[in-house]
Amino acid sequence: MSELVLFKNRREGRAATFDEYRASGGYEALIDAVKNRTPGDVVRIVTESGLRGRGGAGFPTGRKWGSVHGDGGPRYILPNTDEMEPGTFKDRVLVNTDPHLVVEGIILAAYAVGACHGIFFIRPSYEQDAKVLERELSIAREAGFLGRNILGSDFSFDIDVHRSAGRYICGEASAQVNAIQGKRPNPIKVGEHLTETGLWGRPTVVNNVETLASVPHILKNGVPWFKSLAATPEGDGTKLYCVSGMVGAPGCYELPMGTALGDIIFEHGGGMLPGKDFKACLPGGASSGLMPASLLHVPMDFDAMKKAGQRLGTASIVVFDQETCLVGACLNLIGFFVRESCGWCTPCREGLPFIQEVLWRIEQGEGEERDIELLRETLDLMRYSYCAFAPGAAAPVEGLLRYFEDEVREHIRIKGCPFSASARCLSAPAPSTDAEDPAAREGCDLSTRRQEG
Ligand code: SF4
Repeated sequence: MSELVLFKNRREGRAATFDEYRASGGYEALIDAVKNRTPGDVVRIVTESGLRGRGGAGFPTGRKWGSVHGDGGPRYILPNTDEMEPGTFKDRVLVNTDPHLVVEGIILAAYAVGACHGIFFIRPSYEQDAKVLERELSIAREAGFLGRNILGSDFSFDIDVHRSAGRYICGEASAQVNAIQGKRPNPIKVGEHLTETGLWGRPTVVNNVETLASVPHILKNGVPWFKSLAATPEGDGTKLYCVSGMVGAPGCYELPMGTALGDIIFEHGGGMLPGKDFKACLPGGASSGLMPASLLHVPMDFDAMKKAGQRLGTASIVVFDQETCLVGACLNLIGFFVRESCGWCTPCREGLPFIQEVLWRIEQGEGEERDIELLRETLDLMRYSYCAFAPGAAAPVEGLLRYFEDEVREHIRIKGCPFSASARCLSAPAPSTDAEDPAAREGCDLSTRRQEG
């Protein structure tokens, strides 16, 4: 059993209390930092630790903090809990396991970058989690860890909880900044950096809560200890892996960063359900590429996954068995992304519904051989989109064509879904058309969505 760090205080069915967190050494890193370390010391230690962003991008956390522009004016930190990737639930589990670990991590980040205000960005369906956070934030405030002159120092900082409107794109950092300001949540221009111009034009750091929760442990236990937690030399610390789908023990597991994909599924996730064989998985949430059994040996860290042509993403593994139609599964996913696109740029707004339409034809037995090339050409266009949403949405379909092209061809050859009799076809409703028939528009009315946009 590897060392538990983020889940050290995990208890059955409830979150660790403030007193339990304090008894486990909680807030000691903050007390030490405020009394004995400069903000620059904190940035340096986190940089040396190699900690990379757990929201999916994997950007070095210390480098992000070190790039914050400091001119003496207000700065902000956004702990990002807008978790809407299908299959991903790690941030919810973390908040409900050890809320003060997350809060201490945020305060340390604020100290490092000189932030005066934090805004906890959380999706509306996490209302119970928002309430837990509000309760625990007020306890931390009463204890002197938040508010004016924290622990008698000249460092003042406080945190609010903000319920988002519940759009997937709000998880993207710059879209989140726009959303908080009451603007349409479109990503901002590539090349503009939030650490220079973020909330209300001021330097802003957006970090995933899992990333922030590692910080108190790094400061308390040191860089060599943190590096030693990982399973691979390129890894950093531990990682929360969500496992769901056709497995015996779905859940959220804390394991060394770089644990092999197959070990996570078969040793920790309970393996396949009785009588089921592994066929494929999405390794990093819905916006990652399908992986076949031949890649189960790949270590789940940022670099190893990149070398394997994949993304670690949120490290949320969704497992499919041999009876699952992967065309149907991809159709289901693309329907989600079509609905959640912000509609700002053409490749995403027009390209994703077109991919959905072609997949739908193939699934219904109306596909032709040339549709495979058509899909490839359209997927290629996703890289011209404004933000990473469209390439992420395309990733499962790219994996489908890369590893399971035979299954797509089989749909075309037999003019139908070879899995339809097994009822394991996860198809989404039909894509909308311009037809007048309201039934044809059921499920995802794009024209209405665009007007509302
Ligand atoms: S890629 Fe999609 S989500 Fe991103 S800006 Fe373009 S339309 Fe919006």
